[in-house]
Amino acid sequence: MDPDFFPEGALVGVLTAQPLDRLLDYKAPVGGCQLGAFVEVPLGPRKVLGVVWGKGRGDFDIKRVRSVIRVLDVAPMRGEMRDFLRRAADYTLTPMSAMLRLATRAPGLGDAPSMRKVYRMGHGNVSRETEARGRVMAALRDYGGLSFTLGELSDMAGVTTSVVKGLVKQGAVVEEDSPRDLPFARLDPAYGGKALTADQAAGARALASGVRAQKYATTLLRGVTGSGKTEVYLEAVAEALKIGRQGLVMLPEIALTAEFLTRVEARFGTRPAEWHSGVTMTERRRVWKMVGEGEAQLVVGARSALFLPYRDLGLIIVDEEHDTSYKQEDGVLYNARDMAVLRASICGAQVVLASATPSLETWANAEAGKYNRIDLASRYGPAVMPAMRAIDMRDESLPSNRWISPTLQRAVEARRARGEQSLLFINRRGYAPVTICRACGYQIGCDHCDARMVEHRFLKRLVCHQCGETKPMPDVCPSCEVEGKLAAVGPGVERLSEEAAQVFPEARIATLSSDMFGSARALKAEIEGIAAGAADIIIGTQLVAKGHNFPLLTLVGVIDADLGLQGSDLRAAERTFQLMRQVAGRAGRAEKRGETMLQTFQPEHPVIRAILAGDEEGFWSAEADGRRHAGVPPYGRLAGIILSSPDAQEAFDFGMELARRDGPLRQVGAQVFGPAPAPIARVRGRHRVRLLVKAPKGVALQGAVAAWIAQMSPSNRLRLAVDIDPQTF
Ligand code: ADP
Ligand code: ZN
Repeated sequence: MDPDFFPEGALVGVLTAQPLDRLLDYKAPVGGCQLGAFVEVPLGPRKVLGVVWGKGRGDFDIKRVRSVIRVLDVAPMRGEMRDFLRRAADYTLTPMSAMLRLATRAPGLGDAPSMRKVYRMGHGNVSRETEARGRVMAALRDYGGLSFTLGELSDMAGVTTSVVKGLVKQGAVVEEDSPRDLPFARLDPAYGGKALTADQAAGARALASGVRAQKYATTLLRGVTGSGKTEVYLEAVAEALKIGRQGLVMLPEIALTAEFLTRVEARFGTRPAEWHSGVTMTERRRVWKMVGEGEAQLVVGARSALFLPYRDLGLIIVDEEHDTSYKQEDGVLYNARDMAVLRASICGAQVVLASATPSLETWANAEAGKYNRIDLASRYGPAVMPAMRAIDMRDESLPSNRWISPTLQRAVEARRARGEQSLLFINRRGYAPVTICRACGYQIGCDHCDARMVEHRFLKRLVCHQCGETKPMPDVCPSCEVEGKLAAVGPGVERLSEEAAQVFPEARIATLSSDMFGSARALKAEIEGIAAGAADIIIGTQLVAKGHNFPLLTLVGVIDADLGLQGSDLRAAERTFQLMRQVAGRAGRAEKRGETMLQTFQPEHPVIRAILAGDEEGFWSAEADGRRHAGVPPYGRLAGIILSSPDAQEAFDFGMELARRDGPLRQVGAQVFGPAPAPIARVRGRHRVRLLVKAPKGVALQGAVAAWIAQMSPSNRLRLAVDIDPQTF
């Protein structure tokens, strides 16, 4: 008898995404069901999705136990995946129900098979080409070969559904059943390999033999931007393809996907599966299913791609592993980089953490020998690292509300005269960070958060960068009601763009900020245009710091290099160092030598000096010493407890009481600090206080924290969230 099969009528325990603390008992349906099967079960008056997680408990009146409604037409969840969810839940102290939600994000998982029609490019010609018809065809061409529901396609093209239907009649568009079963074209590992340099080849060989071993290991792949890290890890992907295991490449930013997919196509002859919030519902349904059946050999995606039901995952690449966007800060608080390591250790896969500027955690793990390390010492080909220099802003004469120094201005003009591009970088979205009333001094803040509203002229609104709340820019001061006195203070990317237009009236200026593009497609088009030379000056936020190739770019001007060095965040130095190095890496990627200029008021600051000197090892070991001394990660362990309530006093009092009952923590040598206002003290009308638990390395922190918080139960209004390994401390 198969122990993983439950015959009709047998009691099964089903995990659902409902916030309950336990599995629910059901009877297996007609035909029985497999352990791990995705099922639909009745819950009160509703039907919900669940997974058969084990035997039922049978502690409930058997006559009242209801039956599973049906087993869904998808492969059961594998033991490996169940294990992963369980251990990720234990690590992050998250309820299993919430973990399941991450793993069942496939839209329409419960749909009856082939219920929906989809549309894709046909072979017929468009007769009587109208503008609307042209837009439909352009949208389909953009997504080469993909199909969409009628609604998706007409939305994308901005036409009515009858336009699409008309094209179907002509044969220019084909209507067919939902392509959940449409496999991806096979990637060919032998298709477009490049001749690697000796360094690159050695790295590629090491990674490939790791993949072949089919045993868990993590490797830090470190090398300056442009050294060929991507080329090297694509060889590891090739090896996974050869031995028939699946690969996952995680990117920190959706905007990077398009360029990356093109590279994959050049290397393997066809495009891989794609998984992120910009992917259509239809396509996601298909990817989810094909990944589960092993028909999608390679997935390129966001952190959520880690929760897809891989059939045989052999390799995970975390590109730009230091990027903070790998940490999910909403819902389940997890770091995708760490979860990648967990997942790989369960399924015997290789992890490659690629970065020019690794996180201190990863660097320390490599130092300690827990991770392998591959270093690519130099840039590929004739490209050399850009020269770095500081512009001491104390020596520059600049009128107020101007941020482009005369020195930087001259440097940009010199580039323009040679037909080269310059990038002016500022890590701040919007027009100005602060809007202040010159009559009464009032600063416009968010009604729901402890944050200032940021003026976005492009959107013609004030925006809260914390909660996303927006409101129109008022004419009169909301406090003193005087008219016409509201003034923008400080620079944002939009304001810098305005200044650049005045300083360089002849130049073609392109501004890149994530909120300025309605779609990933528009952003992609803009980036391709810039790469082809359609702009002289690029003005951008950290969106441009990440991975794009601009061959004509030879100058990077960092408008405010000091920006990240203020504040109490212990990671500020690390962040600034990484960001500055990344931005600098944008310059001089092709044949031309690049130069990076940092505008700073404190050129003697140790972090600025380390950036200028390019002294990475020096920076890391100094930073490591400081952290070791303070007993913080990676040399100690931290957990944050965020308490939030509409009532600040309630959250604070609860925190005080919890801090008082610290017995379970002290037992393992951990200490609790706080309560104090959380780094973001108010969000969407909820006040947040934080307790910080600090423990020596090697302590079973999760167990102690779980026992500690179990002592008290929050009221209905109070929410308690655990943040293991918080990003700010
Ligand atoms: P990184 O990922 O480290 O930033 P990339 O892999 O993107 O570096 O390489 C930078 C550029 O150099 C890319 O355009 C890449 O195609 C090219 N390149 C790197 N190595 C080689 C090689 N061995 N042969 C040909 N082109 C290469
Ligand atoms: Zn807000």
